[in-house]
Amino acid sequence: MIPPNHPRRESLLQREAVVEGFREGYVAAQGLIAQGRGECFDYLIGEATQPFALKAIRAAAAALLLAKRPVVSVNGNVAALAPRAVVELAEAAGALIEVNLFYRTGEREEKIAEVLRRHGAGEVLGVGEDAACVIPELFSERRRVSCKGIYAADVVLVPLEDGDRTEALRRMGKTVIAVDLNPLSRTSRAASITIVDNVVRALPALANAVRELRGRPREDLEGVLRGYDNRGVLQEALRHILERLRRLSEGELELVG
Ligand code: ATP
Ligand code: MG
Repeated sequence: MIPPNHPRRESLLQREAVVEGFREGYVAAQGLIAQGRGECFDYLIGEATQPFALKAIRAAAAALLLAKRPVVSVNGNVAALAPRAVVELAEAAGALIEVNLFYRTGEREEKIAEVLRRHGAGEVLGVGEDAACVIPELFSERRRVSCKGIYAADVVLVPLEDGDRTEALRRMGKTVIAVDLNPLSRTSRAASITIVDNVVRALPALANAVRELRGRPREDLEGVLRGYDNRGVLQEALRHILERLRRLSEGELELVG
């Protein structure tokens, strides 16, 4: 039981949700370690959606709205942390939802699809025989995806993805939108658009941005995408961390909580 006034309540609730997903058998052990890595970077950015993330969210919303076949990819951690946000975003963007696991087992796929359905999802791709297509150059179960989903997609949103897979999806010519708290990860560097923010905050913010930009002329959306510079955004994230640590270390800024 986490007290309602605990200063780190939000972070602890997220940790509990991932542990619960592990106990229920759909979060991988490696997912627990990934959550710890994420918490560390969330401390560094200040546990809030920062301006560099907002820029990426706006570009991501434009990319999703311009897409012919957008897909939201879901793994165990995402199902544990933000199942409702995934469903709402997919609805807002007209995107398909696909279970996409690094450590694939039939049981985990089924359980994640079940969690998503409990939160309002209709069709969930990438479960069992549906994951019959293959991402070139990747090995073992990591490369299997749905033929109507990620394989055929032009824009793929991958919250908490692995670097090798992100690179492979880019080589297939897809626009890859990553959500990753670590601005230094290979995923962050390989993605077309990187939202450096916690999935818990980023996915609802992205759904809002999609609703806001929906109905804008294509040229406007194309303009948003053309003006977007992912390398610059990642550099901004690093400068934000640098400046924040400088201010904290010199007593200019105090931590709250
Ligand atoms: P890469 O393979 O991209 O170099 P990695 O091997 O360090 O990265 P993975 O386990 O492949 O990491 O992917 C998990 C990534 O997700 C990590 O970079 C981690 O910081 C990030 N992450 C973990 N929890 C969250 C969260 N709640 N929101 C956003 N990002 C998160
Ligand atoms: Mg990795």
